[in-house]
Amino acid sequence: MDKFSLNLEKYAEITVKIGLNIQEGQRLLIAAPIVSAAFVREVTKSAYRAGAKDVHIEWNDEQISKIKLEQAPEESLKEFPAWKAKGYEEMAKDGCAYLSIVASNPDLLAGIDPDRIAIVNKTNAQHLMGFRKMTQSSQISWCVVSTPTKEWAAKVFPTLPTEEQEAALWEAIFNCTRASLEDPVSAWEEHSNNLRSKVDFLNDKKYKQLHFRAPGTDLTIELPNKHIWVGGGAKNANGVNFVPNMPTEEVFTTPKRDGVNGVVSSTKPLIYGGNIIDQFSLTFENGKIVNFHAEVGGETLHRLIDTDEGSRYLGEVALVPHSSPISQSNILFYNTLFDENASNHLAIGSAYPICIENGTKMSNEELKEEGSNSSLTHVDFMVGSNEMDIDAVKEDGTVEPLFRNGDWVI
Ligand code: ZN
Ligand code: ZN
Repeated sequence: MDKFSLNLEKYAEITVKIGLNIQEGQRLLIAAPIVSAAFVREVTKSAYRAGAKDVHIEWNDEQISKIKLEQAPEESLKEFPAWKAKGYEEMAKDGCAYLSIVASNPDLLAGIDPDRIAIVNKTNAQHLMGFRKMTQSSQISWCVVSTPTKEWAAKVFPTLPTEEQEAALWEAIFNCTRASLEDPVSAWEEHSNNLRSKVDFLNDKKYKQLHFRAPGTDLTIELPNKHIWVGGGAKNANGVNFVPNMPTEEVFTTPKRDGVNGVVSSTKPLIYGGNIIDQFSLTFENGKIVNFHAEVGGETLHRLIDTDEGSRYLGEVALVPHSSPISQSNILFYNTLFDENASNHLAIGSAYPICIENGTKMSNEELKEEGSNSSLTHVDFMVGSNEMDIDAVKEDGTVEPLFRNGDWVI
């Protein structure tokens, strides 16, 4: 077997065994673009080997989505097939595992009317809310992984000859996900344990507040009384471990909805709905974004934070050491799944109910009462760098250093 095929097989294997942790007799639902077919076939084989009962694939194609955005009558952008949303929910109730494969052209939607994009994003979010609740609250095992497209590869490796770009991106993905290692399954077990030890440390400390300092950033983030740090994987309703994102280098929790104050500046471009937002800053008062500025994509940023009431607030604070493999690769992926794992980041929009004690059993109102934000959207943006320091403040006011020059000091 050639090196590429071997790595592809190992990538599929960690997706099935670590990401989804497929159990005997379980169904697998995969949402995948047609350009990812070769990888989907490997995942399907690996899933049946692991004991899956059935693998169902929902294919999509971003060119078709773009044609619809350009040409379909506006009222159809507000429609979503009820049978599809119902089918997703039925499979989730049956305890399926869910794999979402992302392979996109970061510039796909450049030039498309942002109003029409916003309608489609909102429609999808509204109709898939029930299903998303089951994934976000870890009812079922789910995982997001990425595969290259030639447009994406060209964006990441613009100086390479065209015919080498896609292979270079595959290699970067294999490296960042540890798929290229000799025994990626045990490497992942060790990595997850490392992340969990950070999570345990932070959960023991029950810090009251974090203070982020870097050029262009001076931000305090209060944490809810019942906040929980999460990382290195999750457990589904049956107590089975799974890893929702591969790669993953983060430990995260939710900020207190009304407890964020100061200014934060982005350190990497953010791709949102096919558009780039870059070199932006947000100003917070009592949790709310009261001012923003972007050198690139200001209009797109405006639409993002205007999605609904909750998109004016934060739903995630995540810590990632600057020494992570993705950060060290020095590659800008133009893809949140990778770039968020290179850097400390925050998310605009909804918080994960798993980040609040008993949060998965609470209604949206109860979550809000505990300081957890809800919104139709959840978009990560990168704020970390090797110049970032973070202090943690305890209940009694004691200040402890967490990060210096972008890395853990605990
Ligand atoms: Zn994150
Ligand atoms: Zn996030």
